[in-house]
Amino acid sequence: MEEKKTVLIVEDEKSIVDIVRFNLEKEGYAVLTAYDGETGLAMALEKNPDIVLLDVMLPKMIGFDVCRILREKGSSVPVIILTAREEEADKVQGLEIGADDYITKPFSMRELMARIKANIRRTAMQQTGPADAGGAMSAGGGLTINPDNYQVCKQDRPIDLTQREYELLTFLASHPGRVYSRIDLMEQVWNYEYVGDDVRTVDVTVRRLREKIEDDPASPSLILTRRGVGYYFAGQ
Ligand code: CA
Repeated sequence: MEEKKTVLIVEDEKSIVDIVRFNLEKEGYAVLTAYDGETGLAMALEKNPDIVLLDVMLPKMIGFDVCRILREKGSSVPVIILTAREEEADKVQGLEIGADDYITKPFSMRELMARIKANIRRTAMQQTGPADAGGAMSAGGGLTINPDNYQVCKQDRPIDLTQREYELLTFLASHPGRVYSRIDLMEQVWNYEYVGDDVRTVDVTVRRLREKIEDDPASPSLILTRRGVGYYFAGQ
């Protein structure tokens, strides 16, 4: 039998925690809860959840700091930020500090479950066996992608990417020269069936990826913009 996936909820509003926990358990997830940022951070590091739902305004440590420290400590657990409605700046800041996704409160349970599923889908990739360097492919510009151990290197120096950044890079790099709209990318890389105003997520992720892999992020040579259409990976 497949092991249960574990969701860590870090949220100080007990009514939200209770209803989310109820729905997650009904869907077969194991649930951990923390009601302040410090406890949430400690649990995220110690309990190895498969995904973290992270509120922003939390006692003791705000959600952005929790996420930032998690990433600094090398955790690549998927993080979904729970933001208050209409706080656009929150969404962008959350993605900038390494969150994988965000959802606005109040959210529908159906949408939350879909987001959790989409973000958790590939945690299996972190549990694959030891690295096999044989499968590395050169993507041009000194960049190599090794799908066996999910490692990306630039001039042989390992680059630390979030899962989402890795998936966006490998998706674009495996279709060099082909232009994808932001909606295409939301569907193909983020696995969203419904795409609302969230295409901004793609822009932020592209920008963060460029900062990590491009020689000059302001004048990229690997991930290129086709103005008014979308993004593509430079052909070799
Ligand atoms: Ca709160």
